[in-house]
Amino acid sequence: MVVKPNIVRTERALRSKVSSWRDAGESVALVPTMGALHEGHLHLIDLASKKADRTIVSVFVNPGQFAPKEDFSKYPRDEKSDMAKLANYDVDLVFAPSVEMIYPHDFATKVILLGPASADLEDQFRPHFFDGVATVVAKLLILCQPHMAIFGEKDYQQFLVIRQMARDLNIPVKIISGSTIREPDGLALSSRNAYLSPDERLIAPMLHAILKDVAHKVARGGEVNRVLGTAKTKLGRSGFRLDYLEARDRKTLQPLARGFTGNARLLAAAWLGKTRLIDNIALKI
Ligand code: AMP
Repeated sequence: MVVKPNIVRTERALRSKVSSWRDAGESVALVPTMGALHEGHLHLIDLASKKADRTIVSVFVNPGQFAPKEDFSKYPRDEKSDMAKLANYDVDLVFAPSVEMIYPHDFATKVILLGPASADLEDQFRPHFFDGVATVVAKLLILCQPHMAIFGEKDYQQFLVIRQMARDLNIPVKIISGSTIREPDGLALSSRNAYLSPDERLIAPMLHAILKDVAHKVARGGEVNRVLGTAKTKLGRSGFRLDYLEARDRKTLQPLARGFTGNARLLAAAWLGKTRLIDNIALKI
């Protein structure tokens, strides 16, 4: 049977529901999203409902993580269609607060981060992004009081930043990652893929194809910096404007020491026209 999930918008209603579950000894998982739900989000929701007795999905387009010239106002929002998608999943509650509820007019606090948030990857190109993400996620974790929260590997640096923040601030929650869901041609699903023109959409899967090619060549003994250099040229020739393509330590995101061997992470961000794509995969050196 398809059941539309229960939407809650106030702190009081949210706390009352979560308390009743926790008092009954039930485990609670939170999946934070900005809506415009796709199979990537739904995969995390599926994972949450398998791991916990109760699943909360938050839907909040967080103004705190968009820079003034970024796409906050044009970011896709369609609550009706999101709710229809969630009706097929085991979701107990959708928390969809207003901007005023999350940021009252006298709001004056921000979480400031170091460690994986200052790795010169996303943070170099979107300087206020992680402060904004961490501030809202800290609030969501405190409001929803989940035992666990699920984040996508698609945003790999974000996952590490949130995990570090929860540890450092002693927030009693387990931060879990879910794998990246892709289109059949390899393009990682993203709400922002909707901005791609038909021509750009044809080129977009090259980003993942080139990441895979780098991983393959390095696994077969190719020297990392040389392989990365060739890949950067290929991306440029295919029409991408590269922000970064880097092999990094998979836990700290620091640059790899000379002669490093073992498991690392390959991370990239690149523009196609006005759309910024990010992706990452495991790298064995
Ligand atoms: P967003 O709505 O873009 O803020 O994303 C909400 C959550 O979904 C984040 O934890 C993302 O990492 C995750 N996510 C986004 N795209 C994907 C994807 N293609 N596969 C898996 N998780 C994803």
